[in-house]
Amino acid sequence: MSDEQTKLDEIREQILKDDPVPELREGAKQLVFGDGTPEAELVFIGEAPGKNEDEQGKPFVGAAGRFLNEMLEMIGLKRSDVYITNIVKYRPPNNRDPLPEEKQVFLPYLESQLEAIQPKLVVTLGRHSLNCFLPDLSISQVHGQPKRFKGRVYLPLFHPAAALYNGAMRQTLIDDFALIPAIIEKIKLA
Ligand code: URA
Repeated sequence: MSDEQTKLDEIREQILKDDPVPELREGAKQLVFGDGTPEAELVFIGEAPGKNEDEQGKPFVGAAGRFLNEMLEMIGLKRSDVYITNIVKYRPPNNRDPLPEEKQVFLPYLESQLEAIQPKLVVTLGRHSLNCFLPDLSISQVHGQPKRFKGRVYLPLFHPAAALYNGAMRQTLIDDFALIPAIIEKIKLA
């Protein structure tokens, strides 16, 4: 097993042991920790699991996930080439937005996941995910623009669930997504 995988397994166990938000855990079927390769150059971060994710134990497996898979294919990647996770690791009741304190409590685990994987690029999906790392930026202003912050590069993108049924946003997300390979090449050359 790779070092990265061992570290990820430890973080997963730590969440189960700490039980940081019992109310969320009690209302959910299971922990949705992350999916993909621990050696990923590219990590995607969503908000919180929905119904399908809660049932399957994997992030982005519903309609938004299928759209994400399609966009990955467009740039020549599969899910198994990247790593996908959420800020909040248990499904909030009735798919409500994660609360600020829930995001806060899960952030250190997400940070540890990123430290274990050491990706070249962190793609934030939606405003919750962006504002966890870069609280002062507005998604509508910075989507598609890589942002370097504290030694990491972030690419803010619209959330695939928000863009799925909104023609203009959908096209913008597809266009932004298509920038990913060039952004990664540039980071590797820097
Ligand atoms: N939306 C998210 O933010 N995360 C998922 O895992 C699924 C839908």
